[in-house]
Amino acid sequence: MNDLTDLYQSVILDHNRRPRNYQVLPTANRVGSGNNPLCGDEITVYVKLEGDRIADISFQGSGCAISQASASLMTVNLKGKTIKEAEAIAADVMKLITTGEVKDDEMSDLSALAGVHQFPARIKCATLSWHAALNAAKGEARPATTEKTSD
Ligand code: ZN
Repeated sequence: MNDLTDLYQSVILDHNRRPRNYQVLPTANRVGSGNNPLCGDEITVYVKLEGDRIADISFQGSGCAISQASASLMTVNLKGKTIKEAEAIAADVMKLITTGEVKDDEMSDLSALAGVHQFPARIKCATLSWHAALNAAKGEARPATTEKTSD
């Protein structure tokens, strides 16, 4: 498990230990959830949507450090964004997580997730909350899941 040491960079450790926006959002008008059965991660994302803007966002969940830290980072980075902006950020993050490519300095704290790409089994842990957030913001009732459904 020594290889995982690099993965748990200080940002990830910090967000896992003190997750930001970790609460049920009383004013939420959209909710999205996701689970990653392979690791046991569960995330529920609460979004207060005003027009097409994510006025507020929070999450609750349980699971590994990567999944919880990624969710915390997600709330910090998507709060105040429009759905379109959130989709663009999420697309960059998905690329970052799967390839380790840091797009530019704007990604700042999100670049902590770049190390995840070295551990394919953990990619789903990191992307889970982003899928759940987009599903919530776009008002899709179906829960996000990293697993294909049977239908
Ligand atoms: Zn996990």
